[in-house]
Amino acid sequence: GVPVSNVAGIGRGAKQGVLIKGGQVMSTFKKVDTMIFDKTGTLTVGRPAVTTVVNFNGEQKVALEMVAAVEQKVSHPLADAIVKFVAPTTDFMVNELMVIKGRGVAANVNKVKVLIGNQAMMREQQINVSEVMEKQLDNLSQNNQTVVIVAIDGVVRLIIGIKDVIRPEVAESLIKLRKLGIKRMVMLTGDTQISGEIIAKEARIDEIHGNLLPADKAEFIKQLQANGHKVAFVGDGINDSPSLKIAEIGIAMGNGTDVAIETSDVVLLKSDFGKLVESYRLSQRTVRNMY
Ligand code: ADP
Ligand code: MG
Repeated sequence: GVPVSNVAGIGRGAKQGVLIKGGQVMSTFKKVDTMIFDKTGTLTVGRPAVTTVVNFNGEQKVALEMVAAVEQKVSHPLADAIVKFVAPTTDFMVNELMVIKGRGVAANVNKVKVLIGNQAMMREQQINVSEVMEKQLDNLSQNNQTVVIVAIDGVVRLIIGIKDVIRPEVAESLIKLRKLGIKRMVMLTGDTQISGEIIAKEARIDEIHGNLLPADKAEFIKQLQANGHKVAFVGDGINDSPSLKIAEIGIAMGNGTDVAIETSDVVLLKSDFGKLVESYRLSQRTVRNMY
């Protein structure tokens, strides 16, 4: 059975906006020494907005509408930002849609091949990105924007800059977690190293690994576990559900995907990092009460 003190912990947690799934969770959570954070939708609010469009080779409006036609079929914070910015029309037939995790999305739009994603995706699809374009990409990244490249029919047509902001309570919450005993904090992101570093600096996390695929994130956690660490992973389930599953404690954002909420051990119902601090503190208290 579940120890009574743990049940009390769960009850108290739920009232405070945290869902803790089962009595074992609290005693495992207490042992966690390493906390890993996803960036987009986790450390950031995950409601990014388009702030920049750079146009190359042809008409911007049609290219943007083609992109929106694709992105309206995709569930991703960046896709939402683009759809909100463009307002899709019904003029386009989208076929063969393929979401490439940690990369972007590809589809045929009115039988023309459209690729939407990051630099790694363009490299892999052998799309030529000129020096001028690369300079633009660096500028945007340094200005805290996530860059999305659009290639239509094999040629780069747009660079879209999208800005997401850190959750306001993150920095303070992470300071508290450090004081409570989390020794190591790491950001893992599918976004670029530069975009990761900007958010990490605000969050005061000094270890960042960018350009990661979902499997890379899970592999990173496995390595830590092989070295005897107990790991909590905090994510929203978009491209990080393998990590939520494999960590000793998977912590899902309440605004995250259904899969995240299902596979996690702890759910922050309102995506509030203050509740993450409270539940970690609670886990320590709950276990102590047992003796
Ligand atoms: P994170 O790990 O920070 O949560 P993701 O793994 O979800 O980020 O995405 C990694 C990168 O892949 C994004 O920064 C973006 O460049 C690209 N990408 C992913 N999905 C899309 C999409 N639907 N449209 C455009 N670009 C995308
Ligand atoms: Mg994410």
